[in-house]
Amino acid sequence: MDLARDAYVDGSWLAASKRFAVNDPFDGELVAEVADCDVATVERAIAAAGTAFLAWRKQPAPERGQLLAKVAVLMARDEARLAEICTRENGKALKESLAEVRYAASFIHWFAGEAERIYGETVPSSRGDGRITVLREPVGPCALITPWNFPYAMLTRKLGAALAVGCTVVCKPASQTPLSALALAQLCHEAGIPTGVVNVVTGTEHQRIGQQFFASKTIRKVSFTGSTRVGQDLMRQAAEDVKRLSLELGGNAPFVVLEDADVDAAVAGALVAKFRNSGQSCVAANRFILEAPIAEAFTQKFVAATAKLVVGRGLDPATDIGPVIDDKAVAKIRQLVEDALAKGARLLQGAVPASRAIAPIVIAGVTRDMAIWHEEVFGPVATLRIAKDQAEALEMANDTDAGLVAYVYTSNGTNQVRAAEALQAGMVGVNEGLVSTAQAPFGGVKQSGLGREGSRHGMDDYSNYKYVATKLV
Ligand code: NAP
Repeated sequence: MDLARDAYVDGSWLAASKRFAVNDPFDGELVAEVADCDVATVERAIAAAGTAFLAWRKQPAPERGQLLAKVAVLMARDEARLAEICTRENGKALKESLAEVRYAASFIHWFAGEAERIYGETVPSSRGDGRITVLREPVGPCALITPWNFPYAMLTRKLGAALAVGCTVVCKPASQTPLSALALAQLCHEAGIPTGVVNVVTGTEHQRIGQQFFASKTIRKVSFTGSTRVGQDLMRQAAEDVKRLSLELGGNAPFVVLEDADVDAAVAGALVAKFRNSGQSCVAANRFILEAPIAEAFTQKFVAATAKLVVGRGLDPATDIGPVIDDKAVAKIRQLVEDALAKGARLLQGAVPASRAIAPIVIAGVTRDMAIWHEEVFGPVATLRIAKDQAEALEMANDTDAGLVAYVYTSNGTNQVRAAEALQAGMVGVNEGLVSTAQAPFGGVKQSGLGREGSRHGMDDYSNYKYVATKLV
């Protein structure tokens, strides 16, 4: 497999004296050794983004859009290769990697179009001799820090918006999945994105690299996707320089099935919402809340459906569910499952996990004193709880510090409206288990984050509104 292994800085590939291993999560096989960037390389990338910004912000927006559109075309051309890279380093099933590459390219495609629609405003003044103009300007060079679970999509959601508005970027992908980001950098290079506009620094010293971003006066914004714990830490660091910050953090989504739901549709939606990417998704449905009259029917069909999912090596075309990312993830899932079972929950499907290839686990009789109710499990574990009525179901759904997404299945129009309005989340899937799409604003409330990605709102996070007051003389 043709792989980029060096950092991409100012249009060049930089080797490093230190390298780190990227391993296949399925069997630990070495996939590549990648540049572990030192302080100087990160500084060089920041400086390159700073210099490139001066010209990139002035490049006509349609031209920026055309360059982005080329990247999307190249991603489509290379989708099989890109998918294989993702599966090798992330472990996910090849069909999921392919879907991710297409999903990731859809953000580039979307923002390529949006680049031409970065409107300012004129506003009627309260004075006859006054004129109010609102200009929309790029924030400046941005640092983009991304996680391992969707190595392409989490990056393109940020990169597409940033570049469309006229920002330049230094990307810091997760150290477990840097190869996808480097492959994307190759395509940006091939597409002719000017030198220094996109930079990718890879490395294991995440804290130090993050500190370099926050300490830099050149970097005007940091956009982060990852865990809530790290997001909180970055928020503290951002305070020092009052740096713009976007945070896409953890979720703990409820999946509410009301008594009037179409059970088959709910089961189909549940499979996608729960088991995509082996449950390692911020929008994964973790807490299934079933209104009492439908609980038995849903549970039976859901458990039967989960039994059919094939767990295995991501590269095997038969695989539906790849391994979880590492042994730490296995230990966390095991601990949450064991805690629930010790407190009285019942295992309906699967077993306490012993290795990274984890078959679907379904647990019934979950209560709020169990850690799994409050903590994001980030694995293929579905927990079931029964609510006596709709009001209790919605109350249970909101019983969390997270607020990224919530799902509700009901055939009744009034219930759909009531539930969508009552659920405390940035996104609600109504009879829909997959909400993520380039056209819609993605993001959370409560501890799930700040800002929105995708849609026309996705560009707000990379824009400054400059108000110009003009007095006619
Ligand atoms: P993570 O540990 O927070 O890491 C995310 C990224 O931040 C990685 O690049 C990581 O580098 C880097 N990082 C870690 N500590 C850092 C620090 N102190 N300073 C600067 N950078 C730091 O999260 P993860 O385990 O990779 O991802 C899983 C989490 O992401 C879950 O909670 C999931 O819900 C959330 N997520 C949210 C969304 C969303 O849109 N809301 C989407 C996807 C995932 P290393 O790889 O080198 O550690």
